[in-house]
Order: sequence, then C-alpha cells, then structure tokens
Amino acid sequence: MAKLHFYYSAMNAGKTTLLLQSNYNYRERGMNTLLLTPQIDNRFGQGKIASRIGLQEDAISFDSNSDLYAIAKDHQSNNPLHCILVDEAQFLSRNQVYQITEIVDQLDIPVLAYGLRTDFKGEPFEGSKYLLAWAESLSEIKTICHCGRKATQVLRLDEHGSPIIDGAQISIGGNDQYVSVCRKHYKSKQVA
Ligand SMILES: [Zn+2]
Repeated sequence: MAKLHFYYSAMNAGKTTLLLQSNYNYRERGMNTLLLTPQIDNRFGQGKIASRIGLQEDAISFDSNSDLYAIAKDHQSNNPLHCILVDEAQFLSRNQVYQITEIVDQLDIPVLAYGLRTDFKGEPFEGSKYLLAWAESLSEIKTICHCGRKATQVLRLDEHGSPIIDGAQISIGGNDQYVSVCRKHYKSKQVA
C-alpha cells in the first residue's frame, strides 16, 4: 500500500537535496517518478528543483489552482508512476494536500512531500498543517541552531541582518534571508 510521507524541517536543513537523492534512488532502479514544485518558487527557473549544493532536476511546476490529482492521473496514463516527489510542500493549499492523499489512496502511488513546518512568525504553513494532520509517515529533517540545540523555528532577516517580525508569509527571491534557530533563540531573536 502506498503512503503519504511528509519530511518537514526548519530552513536550510537540506530538504531539496534529500528529495533529489530519493528521486535518484528510484530512477536508478528503473522506476518512473514525477517531480512537482510550486510556481511561487522561481529562484532557479520554473520547472526545476535545485538544491543549494548544486543538484537539479526538471519538475512540473504548479500554481494554487492546479489539480495535483489530475496531473498525476494524466502522467500515470502514459507511463506508470512509482513515486511522486513534491518540493516546497508548505505552499500547498488544503485542497491540494487532499488531492495528494487521493493520489496515494486512489492511484496507489507513494508521495514524498518536503516542506517547512512554520513560517518566520512561528505560524504553521497551510500545506504543512494538513500534511502533518493527514500523512501516515512524518519525518523530521534536523538542523541545529547556533547554540547547538535543535532548530525548530525560522527567523527572517533584513538586508542588514536584523530579524523582521512583520510582513507577508511568503517572500521568495528578495534580499531577505532566513536562519534556523531553536525556540529559545527564536523568542529572543538572537541570530548568533
Ligand atoms: Zn539556540
């Protein structure tokens, strides 16, 4: 039986590298995979998933209106799929998380979704909230704070390196930077 797996973490924990590694493992065994990435993330050009250490793969980009179940079913009719991998899964809507549960339950294709658990305000992303609620397999990808504790939160920094408290949840490609910290240093806004 296929399962929905959610791999969650703070920022810069290597989610995309792990996604591309899993994809490589499937393809090395002659299996067909489909990579999905939200259009909101165009840092590396649309339709690509790229990790910070230089790996990249072509992907299908989708927006908030896309039906992920329909995309999977369409691909499945040409070529049997053995796994679907979703990058930046925190940006999925509630409906889209439901659609990927249907990919698992109706099409019997495993889905591996990778995403951030919380935004820089400490609030859960919509996609992550429902993935945490509905996935049968949850795995944390760990990264550490400057103090050595596990980092569970994300601070957004402005161009001067000062923490930003307000602003839109999504700010990709701007000059803002993100740093992962433990909860204690998130509360005190201590970057280093
Ligand atoms: Zn800390």
